[in-house]
Amino acid sequence: MSQEVAIIGAGIGGLTLALYLQRQGIRPVIYESAATLEPLGAGIMMAYNAMQVFEDLGLAALIEAAGNRVLGIDIADQQEKHITATALDQADLQKGIYNVAIHRAKLQEILAEAVGMEHIQLSRRLTSIREGEKTNLIFEGGHQAHCDVLFGADGIRSVVRQHIAPGSSLRDTGQVCWRGICAHQFPELKTDLGVELWGNGDRFGYVVLNPQQAYWYAVSKSKYAPGPQIPERILSFNPLARQFIAATPAAKIIYSPLADLAPLAHWHSHNICLIGDAAHATTPNMGQGGCQAIEDAYTIGKLLERGHPLQATFPLLQQIRTKKVNKIVQQSRLLGRLSQLENKYAASLRNFALRLTAATVARKQLNFLIDIHYI
Ligand SMILES: Cc1cc2nc3c(=O)[nH]c(=O)nc-3n(C[C@H](O)[C@H](O)[C@H](O)COP(=O)(O)OP(=O)(O)OC[C@H]3O[C@@H](n4cnc5c(N)ncnc54)[C@H](O)[C@@H]3O)c2cc1C
Repeated sequence: MSQEVAIIGAGIGGLTLALYLQRQGIRPVIYESAATLEPLGAGIMMAYNAMQVFEDLGLAALIEAAGNRVLGIDIADQQEKHITATALDQADLQKGIYNVAIHRAKLQEILAEAVGMEHIQLSRRLTSIREGEKTNLIFEGGHQAHCDVLFGADGIRSVVRQHIAPGSSLRDTGQVCWRGICAHQFPELKTDLGVELWGNGDRFGYVVLNPQQAYWYAVSKSKYAPGPQIPERILSFNPLARQFIAATPAAKIIYSPLADLAPLAHWHSHNICLIGDAAHATTPNMGQGGCQAIEDAYTIGKLLERGHPLQATFPLLQQIRTKKVNKIVQQSRLLGRLSQLENKYAASLRNFALRLTAATVARKQLNFLIDIHYI
């Protein structure tokens, strides 16, 4: 008899995993806490590594058409003086795959439609798990379900993780972030570049999502922003910051304290496996958290294609993926600190050093990020 497979979480990771399981004839049921699939009103950058996975799934063209091709990220100082750039090169471009900036809701809609809404149960917030002959899933409101194999793709505050790794802990970074989407009313912006401006203790970034919309984010230290209210130091950071923020309805601006997850000893137990943020949440400084969730799903998909039984993929997933995700978690934390240096002398020394060394370092870094052929 075939195994019953459940996935908790219809986010980027859970949906991509469902597509790879379906390819192998496995029909997972996906349980999602939200009542509708209308995720955060924010943008997301799907970097070249994630876009290669979507190419493998036959979805890259659809995602690209709904978003905006981005060839690289430019980093400049608060006065927009160039510091460094990370860009795809000719060899990457010849493959016809790009980074894509897209509205999160649009990305989730494309993935959910590919999976099939009939496989996704909404308003199912998992509250606890009971293991017996079958694994029992207990949801808010008393609803119950069971499965033989369970994937926890339920994000940074994963309930599934609490079940298999109760000692795991999130690490506060002392940084907070605001994000928003506004009407694209900035004809002077380069549409094929993401831009990030580094100041002394604050950061502001933006990218065009499509001809109608642009996405921006601002990062500061929690000591300057004890709550969701955007402080004056962000509004006056650069004229563009004020314009982007003014063009965004205040109620739609998303405020998030930034945290990551201390590395876990085990991402799995005998019939339960974590993927994405549930297993290895990272800070958003490298724009890789979602991409890494997608790479987890891809890795499981490739292992299944090679004939590994489903549960045998769990330890292999952790073995294959740990080095890359741990490096990203660590480098992203470091980048967060480096990009938010408060002392203006330290910040200008940083900018000077980066201008001198950045091209080769950035390319090396990019090669490591975009490579998915380790599996
Ligand atoms: C400010 C910011 C900017 C970012 N920018 C980028 C970027 O540009 N590129 C990038 O790749 N990543 C980015 N990330 C990271 C990215 O958002 C996450 O890494 C990614 O969403 C993780 O995907 P996931 O599927 O593991 O989890 P999630 O996307 O968090 O999905 C989890 C799903 O599970 C559901 N869920 C949660 N708990 C339960 C429960 N108990 N029961 C049932 N369902 C549940 C949630 O509703 C959600 O739908 C950013 C993060 C932040 C905070």
